Amino acid sequence: MLSVKHVSKAFDDQWVLDNVSLDVEVGKTQVILGPSGSGKSTLLRCMNLLEPIDAGAIWFSGQEISAQLDRAHLVRRELSMVFQHFELFPHLNALENIMLAPTRIKGMSRVEAREKAMVLLEKVRIADKASLYPDQLSGGQQQRVAIARALAMEPKVMLFDEPTSALDPEMVKEVLDVMTSLSEAGMTSVVVTHEMAFAREAAQRVVFMEQGRIVEDVDKDAFFSGNVGERAQLFMSNML
Ligand code: ADP
Ligand code: MG
Repeated sequence: MLSVKHVSKAFDDQWVLDNVSLDVEVGKTQVILGPSGSGKSTLLRCMNLLEPIDAGAIWFSGQEISAQLDRAHLVRRELSMVFQHFELFPHLNALENIMLAPTRIKGMSRVEAREKAMVLLEKVRIADKASLYPDQLSGGQQQRVAIARALAMEPKVMLFDEPTSALDPEMVKEVLDVMTSLSEAGMTSVVVTHEMAFAREAAQRVVFMEQGRIVEDVDKDAFFSGNVGERAQLFMSNML
């Protein structure tokens, strides 16, 4: 469905992605692990056409999207990204944050958008907070609103960039539970995270990056049975 082929990218004179290839399969959850600075966010941002690439190609639904940056806004309806710092609109309440894109971009009526937004708020287990503004919500609640907002465009793929790393520990689980439910329901997802328990429970494939390269791209079971190279093993042992 989504295929990254031999993608390289430099910032200034430094290669941040170095010949990266990755296939995201329909209905699967792929976790991306790796040390800070290894290029994980840049890879997701390139997939979401937030950054241009310098070499290679990105294909989605049979089209080479990396060659069509002028259509990026169309692609982003189908590839929805959730960020570390939520990035909700502060002047809109939870419900309005979710309704915005369907009404503005898809031209959905407010009545229909409101109904769909309520269903999504129930799905992320936060329906009772519909009328609250972001600064009245905890971090975990804000991130669940952000997930609902991303789902509102009915994307084909969800991209998560460390969605729980800005949260207090007690809020991590409520967000991971929502993400696990999405994975179990067959949502195609790419998740950059350091949450090993989530990777074990929800992922089918695990990718390990280091210095702009994909060092491992294996089945979850192979990864967690230690069937990986030294660098990934060292990373894992430091996570414990
Ligand atoms: P990760 O998400 O794995 O921590 P990033 O993709 O954020 O890694 O960053 C990879 C490298 O690219 C880092 O060395 C970082 O400093 C650099 N980098 C990321 N974004 C930019 C940018 N906009 N301009 C210059 N360098 C950047
Ligand atoms: Mg990052």
